[in-house]
Amino acid sequence: MMGGTSGLGDLDELYESIILDHYRNPRHTDPLDSPDIDVEANNPFCGDEVHIQLDIEGDSVDGVSVSGQGCAISQSSASLLAEMLDGKSTEEAMEIVTLVRRMMRGDELTEEEQDELGDILALEGVKRFPVRIKCALLSWTALEDALQDRA
Ligand code: ZN
Repeated sequence: MMGGTSGLGDLDELYESIILDHYRNPRHTDPLDSPDIDVEANNPFCGDEVHIQLDIEGDSVDGVSVSGQGCAISQSSASLLAEMLDGKSTEEAMEIVTLVRRMMRGDELTEEEQDELGDILALEGVKRFPVRIKCALLSWTALEDALQDRA
């Protein structure tokens, strides 16, 4: 545990408060009864674990459950992913994953792309901490793999 802060001292305060809010109150943690997608991933460098379950109806995400344990970055990132997925099409979800990857790589995003990311932009500051990028991307990579396997 990291005490009262994310341990990322110079992150923007607004962004830090979004991250801590999602860490302390993760969204969509109730497990699904019979998910269409059920994946687990872990980041051995930090000890992070995430478990993602999705109900897929047609081309859309109809139900989301994300849970796990680990550092504030990995767990808030997973919660932001859960919040993003609700009601999205699988195609839209893949687009967001691509944007998150580009953001963490330091690509310049257009205003439209930033709007699409919304609160997920809070993770952007993590790119300055290379060892934490794996934490931030853990759930996104797991989602991407799961959706690709399904296609
Ligand atoms: Zn971590």
